[in-house]
Amino acid sequence: LFEGPWDFVWASTKIDDLPPMVGQEIAFAGRSNVGKSSLINALTRRNALARTSHTPGRTQQLNFFRQVDHDERLTIVDMPGYGYAAVGKEKVAAWTRLIHDYLRGRSNLMRVYVLIDARHGIKDVDGAVLETLDKAAVSYQVVLTKGDALKPADQTFMTEATFDEIKRRPAAFPEVLLTSSEKGMGIPEFRAAIGRVLAE
Ligand code: GDP
Repeated sequence: LFEGPWDFVWASTKIDDLPPMVGQEIAFAGRSNVGKSSLINALTRRNALARTSHTPGRTQQLNFFRQVDHDERLTIVDMPGYGYAAVGKEKVAAWTRLIHDYLRGRSNLMRVYVLIDARHGIKDVDGAVLETLDKAAVSYQVVLTKGDALKPADQTFMTEATFDEIKRRPAAFPEVLLTSSEKGMGIPEFRAAIGRVLAE
């Protein structure tokens, strides 16, 4: 599924600027610094795919990556990181608007993966994003990042505690994945989970 070269294909800052829907799409969301770029790079085995677009001032955009010459046509959407301390309410509102507009009517979007730092768990700002996804009735799954930063017992504890927080949310897939891009932890399992969603 993830074999073969990936390319950056598009960046959208406005909703009337989205690339046409081709094949299936999955999207990645998370607070700034959650490890989103690292995880996308680990999944696609490309060292700098998600970083190519990491230029300052371009944070409020949706980045689209697509496999080159691939029949199955999976598109990965890197959503702008949220919750950065220096970002004001206005930017948060812009983020919410862009995301809301993107989610509405993107019929080929199979799932949104909401990344949560395993050390911190779900914060208020993450909760607001989950709320947005629930309201938009967009299927999403919570994925813990940086699992290697926790001891095994804490990894289990955080995974279970996070599951307890999301299990009653209407649009949440009832499973929390634990990953570490640095150690490759949970990456094959994450790829397999994505494969199942795309096959649905
Ligand atoms: P993004 O802002 O969400 O795209 O996050 P990045 O992928 O750029 O990573 C942010 C920071 O977290 C960097 O300093 C990474 O080295 C670190 N990081 C990313 N993934 C991991 C991981 O699996 N384990 C640990 N311990 N640190 C990580």
